[in-house]
Amino acid sequence: MSSNAPDKPLLASMGAPARERHPQEYYEEIKKKFAEERDLRLGYRPEGTRQFTSDLSGEFSRYEIDPYSGEIEPRAPINDTVECLFIGGGFSALLTSARLRERGVESIRIVERGGDVGGTWYWNRYPGAACDVVAYDYLPLLDETGYVPTRHYAKAPEIFGYCQMIAKRYNLYDLAVFQTTVTSTVWDEAEKLWHVETDRGDHMKAKFVICANGTLSKPKLSKINGMEKFKGHSFHTSRWDYDYCGANLEKLHDKVVGIIGTGATAVQAIGGLGANAKELYVFQRTPSSIDVKDDWPTDEEWAKKLQPGWQAKRRERARLEARRMEPRVEQTEISREEKIRKQENANIDYMMRIHKRIEEIVKDKATAESLKPWYMFMCKRPCFDNDYLPTYNLPTVHLIDTHGKGINEITENGPVFEGKEYKLDLLIYATGFEVQKTGIYNQIKGVGGRELNEKYAEGIRTMVGIHSQGYPNLFIMGGYQASFQFNLTDMLQAQGDHIAACIDYTRRNGYDTIDVKPESEEWWVQEVINNRGKTSRNQECTPGYYNFEGEFQRRQDGNYNGGFNKYCTHMEDVQAKMGDHFVFTRK
Ligand code: NDP
Repeated sequence: MSSNAPDKPLLASMGAPARERHPQEYYEEIKKKFAEERDLRLGYRPEGTRQFTSDLSGEFSRYEIDPYSGEIEPRAPINDTVECLFIGGGFSALLTSARLRERGVESIRIVERGGDVGGTWYWNRYPGAACDVVAYDYLPLLDETGYVPTRHYAKAPEIFGYCQMIAKRYNLYDLAVFQTTVTSTVWDEAEKLWHVETDRGDHMKAKFVICANGTLSKPKLSKINGMEKFKGHSFHTSRWDYDYCGANLEKLHDKVVGIIGTGATAVQAIGGLGANAKELYVFQRTPSSIDVKDDWPTDEEWAKKLQPGWQAKRRERARLEARRMEPRVEQTEISREEKIRKQENANIDYMMRIHKRIEEIVKDKATAESLKPWYMFMCKRPCFDNDYLPTYNLPTVHLIDTHGKGINEITENGPVFEGKEYKLDLLIYATGFEVQKTGIYNQIKGVGGRELNEKYAEGIRTMVGIHSQGYPNLFIMGGYQASFQFNLTDMLQAQGDHIAACIDYTRRNGYDTIDVKPESEEWWVQEVINNRGKTSRNQECTPGYYNFEGEFQRRQDGNYNGGFNKYCTHMEDVQAKMGDHFVFTRK
């Protein structure tokens, strides 16, 4: 996910957008406050994304160690050739592999840094971890596996288990290699194969490579003075230390715990931490927006009545709904400016409802004020949680509101804010992840040895976010210039279907390579630029990973904002005219 997430899912969850409840001055005042809060944060951190580090080597390497799979199992290096190789074993790889299997592809290998499949759901096992997208939509391949999620919103262990179920069902464990990180992926023009090297000394070859390394995979830490001096225990939320905390956090009963960050991860973890720690200090820089999570166990009667193909029908309905919400040629007199004004006012009404909810739940007035987010909805990832706000009513839970400044110093005892040192036993970094890099841990070199990120440095260039010219037989999932969906697996499934169709076409026609034509790549770059929407939206948002912490961005260096439905239609058009968009070769 990157900047410029479109307004449509936002408007859907906000309800009817257009009825304004206040005079325009009311909205202008709030917008002024939004701008002040944003400027405050930009002023504190002119270094933008460089305030973080995801280079977790040297003294920070312990923040990246996998606590879930134990010692790395020794094995001999692999030197073989497979047909399809996935870098990463999360949902991208699983659902695309399923489609490839359906098309008769036998030789599929997943290479995964973690100790199992699951991707984000392998790593994120913090207490309270769950998906706040409805499980009947989020879990892919439900028609194929016959599985029905146990809850409206599935919790992390169920989702992880489901990933393993998919891998077993499609025999993806047979060739998979775990605890293995791909370090280079180099195209060999003579052999028409990719050479894939890893940190385990492997030299694998593959005809097709699919970059399925996820959008938020690599943990990042805020660069805080003195953090290496801290003498207590510490870890990142994606490497949760249950040995230290106890399986049910029972070992925290006599511990003073601190957590830095209040994004979507912290919001889910804080309920459990607050209930179990002797004392909990939450170090907040910017509050999240928290709405109700309407969760319930799956109704067994409803589940029994589900007919084969129910999930596909559900997705089709969602797509029709998205089509209904797509901007049409204006039939009314309303100007573009007026439309934006109405949308912004509806957005503000929603955010004020979020404020009111905080006032109703959080008893201490100062704490309630501190928890109010002052930015447009969707500037940051919205959260849905029922435990987070009431946790602040516990006498043992303390919100340390840094008013946008953040924690900038840590001593051997703990974080310092405004001269006060907070002495902790445990410090948890809920500081997020590096955003959406193709070639994470990995150097991708295409035709002529050109590195992909070197090509991207002059502006991202892809077709439909999946193909980049000069990188034949390489497919990118969840990357830049693809559509954005609140339900990410919808988007990944659309991409997986497309990739399987491209590989199938190449194989069936006896070709060895498929590479996008330069003119098709240019078409898509222009499509992305033309659909970026309101030009200043990014700058108006409070800094966060959605807008690259407020850094300048080329209009082509983000998501395709023409809407998911149009994105899918474009991919279907490409599939219908493969010869128009790709160059195919034989050895
Ligand atoms: P985020 O990047 O969203 O949040 C990082 C947090 O750390 C922010 O609150 C940030 O503040 C804060 N921070 C950073 N440095 C400091 C500092 N020096 N002092 C104080 N605070 C600091 O990461 P998350 O892990 O929370 O979430 C990442 C993404 O993972 C989500 O956006 C979402 O896409 C996904 N996710 C999805 C879930 C789901 O239900 N589907 C659940 C959980 C996560 P500031 O805002 O000021 O930058």
